[in-house]
Amino acid sequence: MRAWVVDHTAPIDDGPLRRVERDLPQPGPGQVRVRISCCGVCRTDLHLAEGDLVPRRPAVVPGHEIVGVVDALGPGAGRFGVGDRIGVAWLGRTDGTCRFCRRGDENLCESPVFTGWDVDGGYADACLVDEAFAYALPAGLGDEQAAPLLCAGIIGYRALRLADVGPGGRLGVYGFGGSAHLTAQVALHLGMRVHVLTRGEQNRRLATELGADSVGDATAMPPEPLDGAILFAPAGELVPVALRALDAGGTLAVAGIWLSDIPRIDYDAELFHERKLRSVTANTRRDGEEFLQLAHRFDVRATTVAYSMDDAPSALADLAHGRFSGAAVLHNGTP
Ligand SMILES: [Zn+2]
Ligand SMILES: [Zn+2]
Repeated sequence: MRAWVVDHTAPIDDGPLRRVERDLPQPGPGQVRVRISCCGVCRTDLHLAEGDLVPRRPAVVPGHEIVGVVDALGPGAGRFGVGDRIGVAWLGRTDGTCRFCRRGDENLCESPVFTGWDVDGGYADACLVDEAFAYALPAGLGDEQAAPLLCAGIIGYRALRLADVGPGGRLGVYGFGGSAHLTAQVALHLGMRVHVLTRGEQNRRLATELGADSVGDATAMPPEPLDGAILFAPAGELVPVALRALDAGGTLAVAGIWLSDIPRIDYDAELFHERKLRSVTANTRRDGEEFLQLAHRFDVRATTVAYSMDDAPSALADLAHGRFSGAAVLHNGTP
């Protein structure tokens, strides 16, 4: 099979990915093999290729928003049948035994395995997945539509939960890419007032089209104080900006796996009055199942840009340079 691997880490325009030919992987106990139809492009893939995230093994295949069809079962696997369409996401496996897993916080597992970082992901013709960590996908949702839900959607949903805004509450969304545009739709359906603060005319237009209550520049103040906010942009300099926009007691959740340095925080103006700053780390399977159900019920629509799998490096470069809004999706076969 063909696969893209991270050959070395470098700026995306310098070509860190390489196309290789590999044997089809054989599923182990409890695993299934997936013939990949689509794989979404996540900013984490870019962080991995560029070395912000240190690759955990050489020549790993990136990609963790995978949609495909089961074509082989490993020993003991029986949750899905050959021919079933499933989704593969970032959380590839946990140990199930550490203190975090035991108390239901498997996103904090001490020995996690992440798809497209610890094990090969979806920039390929096929991949393996532990069936217990795969997702059934609702019928009627196209492959290209489903792919971005699997990381951008799920992580955004966890960030939304952690931002702790109730129905009728005021949510700030900083940055408006693949994850934010899905999360904003869920928030609006849950009855929140959504204020989007982002750079880029295209992103602001998309936010307006999706029904945001206000849309402004990333560093502008929203028209009302926020009960909670999510920072999607990987820009640490926006942390104090977003904290200032919070009402007393509000929470800022940082959704990204990587963030540039946070400047000095002014305790009185930016954190006092019980404002809270917290990170978001991966997700539990429960987050994933809940989000996929809500996305189906609310008919959350991903704005997607299709690329051929052959053009994975261009898709990542376009993401790096902000050349599209919404989410890029790689296709094996014709989009
Ligand atoms: Zn664990
Ligand atoms: Zn991701």
